[in-house]
Amino acid sequence: MRVLLVEDERRVASFIARALRENAYAVDVAETGEAGLEMARSSSYDAILLDIRLPGLSGLEVCRKLREAEVETPILMLTARGLVEERVEGLDAGADDYLAKPFALAELLARLRALMRRNLGRSGAKLRYADLEVDRHRRRVLRNGSPILLTSKEFALLEFLMLRAPEIITRSEIVEHVWDCHFDSTSNLVEVYINRLRQKIDHDQPHKLIRTVRGVGYSLRLEA
Ligand code: CA
Repeated sequence: MRVLLVEDERRVASFIARALRENAYAVDVAETGEAGLEMARSSSYDAILLDIRLPGLSGLEVCRKLREAEVETPILMLTARGLVEERVEGLDAGADDYLAKPFALAELLARLRALMRRNLGRSGAKLRYADLEVDRHRRRVLRNGSPILLTSKEFALLEFLMLRAPEIITRSEIVEHVWDCHFDSTSNLVEVYINRLRQKIDHDQPHKLIRTVRGVGYSLRLEA
């Protein structure tokens, strides 16, 4: 899942970005409201973390402008503790939820998961398809009851395939949701990761789940 973080304080931004990356999110950081607005309009994100206090264009203005432009990405507003007006203004501007600074990382991650769940219309933390189970809270994967160890990026890729299974997903959709803006589109990283995932998920299994749809993309699908 790909997240846009709009935060002008570098120390805070790098702390949050690092934590999100450790939890298998792809993260782009914008240091100003103007940059955040531009990035949110031109790329597709699964969620936006928006600091309310930014120099220049404020978080509230960014939020309003995005909703006016019909960008419906879930927005989690980062506000100052105790300021009820900021929270109310944030929600009125079109934010989906808010979190008061300073916050515990565990709470930020939980709110983010809740937002994306609402957006994707999925209720559980566990995704299941055929004999494959992905626990998004514990970051655990089981196939036919046996644990499979994945790296953070492999997990993010599998999670995205699972959320959309058995649909076909194009390579560019995968790039948009699993990688950040520094992804080199000429590289074959998607193919490399799909192959690694295949080794771990499908190798030695009688029923293969990861499909390549030539010229289109990939899907997680059990052949009838
Ligand atoms: Ca700030």
